Amino acid sequence: MIFDILTIFPQLPSSVLAEGILGKAVKEGKVTVRVINLRDYTTDKHQVTDDRPYGGGEGMVMKPEPIYQAIQAMKAEDAGTRVVLLSPQGRLYTQAVAREMSTYNHLFIICGRYEGIDERILHFVDDEISIGDYVLSGGELAALVLIESTSRLLPGVLGSPDSAARDSFMDGLLKYPQFTRPQVWQELEVPSVLLSGDHEKIALWRRKEALKQTLLKRPDMLKTANLSDGDRRLLEEIERERKPKAG
Ligand code: SAM
Repeated sequence: MIFDILTIFPQLPSSVLAEGILGKAVKEGKVTVRVINLRDYTTDKHQVTDDRPYGGGEGMVMKPEPIYQAIQAMKAEDAGTRVVLLSPQGRLYTQAVAREMSTYNHLFIICGRYEGIDERILHFVDDEISIGDYVLSGGELAALVLIESTSRLLPGVLGSPDSAARDSFMDGLLKYPQFTRPQVWQELEVPSVLLSGDHEKIALWRRKEALKQTLLKRPDMLKTANLSDGDRRLLEEIERERKPKAG
């Protein structure tokens, strides 16, 4: 899969793209990430990409023309490229949207700066995405969030195909708690079932704990999760265990 990041700060994403799982995927050619300098699409001597807002007010607004030219250049190279504008006003990014993104071969991701981009650019993008209800100073971190979370879902990027499938959100629940050595740490013990070697018991414990984590931390998710009868029984059990005993 190809990700293009259009930015006025082309140095910014480099360390994230060189390290960890994403860095490995890039090195192995499983994903290609190209950082494109928006200033290469300006035509004036000073390579200006922003201007004052019509109507007055604070800050600067990014001009639409260089961005439009960059989109056109990319479409000429690959007409199937999906153009994504990052903006706090876009649809909210979730694991489901990451899954959707992973079905495209090529994303062209536009990073805004300053007060944002001239609104007319929206006529030339396929999608407007926000990574959360807060405002960043630029789209570059959001682009990396999108690229890293999408890349994890591509075949061969994670060591085991099951890793992504068992992540939080993938089946509508949060992931069960995990533990590693030492067995006792700060007088806190690892749950004994995980040392039992009984895979069936461990799987049941993990399912129940995933339900419990979701109930305690994100009860809203249970409204849309695809729950089996067994899950509902486990949830009832969790509720009973949570209720303070009478007397
Ligand atoms: N003035 C704009 C507003 O209030 O809607 C915010 C502009 S923001 C300071 C500059 C750029 O950062 C945006 O054009 C966008 O590319 C990026 N950005 C900021 N917050 C974001 C978010 N939550 N999700 C995605 N991109 C974001």
